[in-house]
Amino acid sequence: MIDSPVDAAMRLGIDLGGSKIAGVALGPGGATVAEHRMAAPRGDYAATLRAIGDMIAKLEQEAGAGGTVGIGMPGSISPASGLVQNANSTWLNGKAFGRDLEIHLRRPVRLANDANCFALSEAADGAGAGSRSVFGVILGTGCGGGLVFDSRLIDGPHSIGGEWGHNPLPWATADEHPGPLCWCGRNGCLETWVSGPGLEADHARVTGVALTSEEIAARAERGETQVRATLERHASRLARGLAHVVNIFDPSVIVLGGGLSKLAHLYAELPVRMAPYVFAEHPDLRVKPPRCGDASGVRGAAWLWGTP
Ligand SMILES: [Zn+2]
Repeated sequence: MIDSPVDAAMRLGIDLGGSKIAGVALGPGGATVAEHRMAAPRGDYAATLRAIGDMIAKLEQEAGAGGTVGIGMPGSISPASGLVQNANSTWLNGKAFGRDLEIHLRRPVRLANDANCFALSEAADGAGAGSRSVFGVILGTGCGGGLVFDSRLIDGPHSIGGEWGHNPLPWATADEHPGPLCWCGRNGCLETWVSGPGLEADHARVTGVALTSEEIAARAERGETQVRATLERHASRLARGLAHVVNIFDPSVIVLGGGLSKLAHLYAELPVRMAPYVFAEHPDLRVKPPRCGDASGVRGAAWLWGTP
């Protein structure tokens, strides 16, 4: 870290994922001044703190100035205890991550759930720009969500606003019940069905063939029947899960992020599949890909100190 005075206009954002750490330095107006990626240490809390410190140092060296630090993380900080809760990077759970980072980085740090950062970014100048209400969804290693209304994150007393991934799959059929066991201890959470690993596990259960999400998508484009059926089951489950959220929050737009947001068929299919489950006469449902792609999470983290 450089010890030069913090430039109030320089916003540093970190996106801490299960397998990678992305960092960005944004100048005035949101221009990217520096950016880096590195592998995330797995299962090692102290190494995670050190890796974030190294990332901040690199960004500041390249940007030539210090800045505010915002961090998007799996799970969230419990307002009651100050400790991490709900992280699928489970080695963070129960740790005083915010306090430890502030000591390590020698400055105040703002933290938010990674899906909240994604939603904030896409609402500010992404696919949800100009929309009053945005539901940002991450379909990656896990399944997160964030709600933005009037340009502000909805962050309630438990810091779980928009966390739909551990609700059960709604309108489940007999063969979807009770559903796969989730890391959270329950069965049939949406995450076990609609995340990347959920999609892969479903394909393997039904066909006996282990494929990655990328392989499933590529084979579907070549017209392979089995993978097409897998993607149809996945789209149906995702549509039911999203319809549940629409019936509560009624967002102007839903923006998908994470690895599975690259599945191009979802944007036309989901509104059609959701409509029968939405409690409205003529649903006008908008589901969009992220405008800022993989960079949304890290940009939203930087903007925890104020959007441009
Ligand atoms: Zn769960």
